[in-house]
Amino acid sequence: MSEKYDVIVIGGGPGGYVAAIRAAQLGYKTACIEKRINKQGDPALGGTCLNVGCIPSKALLDSSWKYHEAEEAFSDHGIGVGKLNLDLDTMLQRKDKIVLQLTGGIAQLFKANKVDWLQGTGQLKANKQVAFKPLEGDEQTLEAENVVLAAGSVPIDIPVAEVDQQIIVDSTGALEFASVPKKLGVIGAGVIGLELGSVWARLGSQVTVLEAVDTFLPAVDQQIAKEAMKQFTKQGLDIHLGARVTGSKKNKNSVRVTYTDGDGEHEETFDRLIVAVGRRPYTEGLLSQDAGVTLDERNFIYVDNQCRTDVPGVYAIGDLVRGPALAHKAIEEGVMVAEVIAGEHTQVNYDAVPGVIYTHPEVAWVGKTEEEVKESGEPYKTGVVPFAANGRALAAGESAGMVKFVVDEKSDRVLGMHVLGPQASELVQQGVISLEFGASIEDLQLMVFGHPSLSETVHEAALATDYKAIHVAQRRRKK
Ligand code: FAD
Ligand code: NAD
Repeated sequence: MSEKYDVIVIGGGPGGYVAAIRAAQLGYKTACIEKRINKQGDPALGGTCLNVGCIPSKALLDSSWKYHEAEEAFSDHGIGVGKLNLDLDTMLQRKDKIVLQLTGGIAQLFKANKVDWLQGTGQLKANKQVAFKPLEGDEQTLEAENVVLAAGSVPIDIPVAEVDQQIIVDSTGALEFASVPKKLGVIGAGVIGLELGSVWARLGSQVTVLEAVDTFLPAVDQQIAKEAMKQFTKQGLDIHLGARVTGSKKNKNSVRVTYTDGDGEHEETFDRLIVAVGRRPYTEGLLSQDAGVTLDERNFIYVDNQCRTDVPGVYAIGDLVRGPALAHKAIEEGVMVAEVIAGEHTQVNYDAVPGVIYTHPEVAWVGKTEEEVKESGEPYKTGVVPFAANGRALAAGESAGMVKFVVDEKSDRVLGMHVLGPQASELVQQGVISLEFGASIEDLQLMVFGHPSLSETVHEAALATDYKAIHVAQRRRKK
């Protein structure tokens, strides 16, 4: 007889493991099927994010930033470190330790919440049956009242640069270079290209980024994106926009890349090449032919606002479905579907999902860009204040960048907040809270912000929307 669960989750990434824990908290008999084997050869929870995504990339971003500071910034503070030494092995091992600590933590949480971790591959069949193929042993059929699909995403491949994880790598390979490539090519100036490009540039690589589109970071407010481009260029990232890669030829220890841009055809040889041109939903083997779940035109699993698929009792979340491919979006959808199953009133506010690029300075945003609001034709106002006017930022030697608010002129409501600067990932949360609470910009203007703090620039940018900022020269509003 097949085993029966209240909830079976397929995929143990940030969407899936959170859905499983929340379902178990709500009293449901829950299993989470995860097939991942980590680089140590052991079964692992945590998905892309914890194993090969958010966490290891941030560990390397932090380590490489410390190296960069020791190399370039400590002397400004009167600190001499002598001859700097890079022990890449230790840096990579530190990253691996953090990953193991976090993924092991999820396994502990599963135990504590009595979630069954089924190690192997799951496939949705008709009538909410799930075929489970364990890592070892025979396939079993499981039954569930509810199934949550949370299989995540995988990198997009391009035929002009086939990944071999040695010379041409995707983001996973780019977390594992055994030595710092002298010349590093990156295809795609998106989030991964900029973050991992920055890591290796700080450690000494000469980095060239080839981006097909003419606009840098088109989804980001363009005032912020333009300043970010300047900062990254200053840091040594050689970013080519409108560059189409037409071919690549590997040698034993390098790859010759050909590309075209407005200036014609070019050829460049790199020691390593990172392909970071986006990710696609990972649906291979996930659905049997009679599963009944519909895909949309881009192969995402079609869901409604509460992540219900077309099959009653079957849900899909995270990178498998529409919306930004972000861990925090997957997490909140995981919570939401468990609560939907329990009949609770619940939602994800898709209008207030922040985005962050963990470069230095960081880029972070929430809500609408100025371009989007302008396009809508509604009257709006903006306030922009640079960190150069902030004492805390100057004290830290982190004065590049700015905070920008986009505000509805008629209602005074905050529509968007955009940050390029130190701790932008933390500061943007003030914009998230403002959007969530439907704050007017006056609410932010009337709040008291601790001094000296980076948040004072948030306050000043709010004041600047009405020409009331104190620490920047603004033209006075006529009475
Ligand atoms: P995933 O994390 O992809 O997890 C899905 C899991 O399902 C996988 O472990 C997979 O093995 C398993 N699975 C798939 N099919 C089956 C099956 N049939 N049976 C059993 N198991 C299956 N996002 C952020 O918000 N912040 C960041 O800083 C950030 N940094 C990133 C850095 C990199 C280098 C990358 C690649 C991504 C980053 N992301 C970041 C994106 C983030 O990792 C994803 O948005 C997030 O992991 C999606 O979560 P998920 O649960 O939908 O899927
Ligand atoms: P992305 O969508 O951010 O960027 C891909 C870039 O590649 C785009 O600018 C695109 O125009 C460009 N591109 C596409 N095809 C190309 C080609 N043939 N030649 C040159 N350029 C090309 O995707 P990504 O950087 O691969 O990251 C994937 C996803 O992972 C992101 O969408 C994001 O949701 C998630 N992620 C998030 C974070 C974070 O939150 N900090 C970090 C890493 C990854």
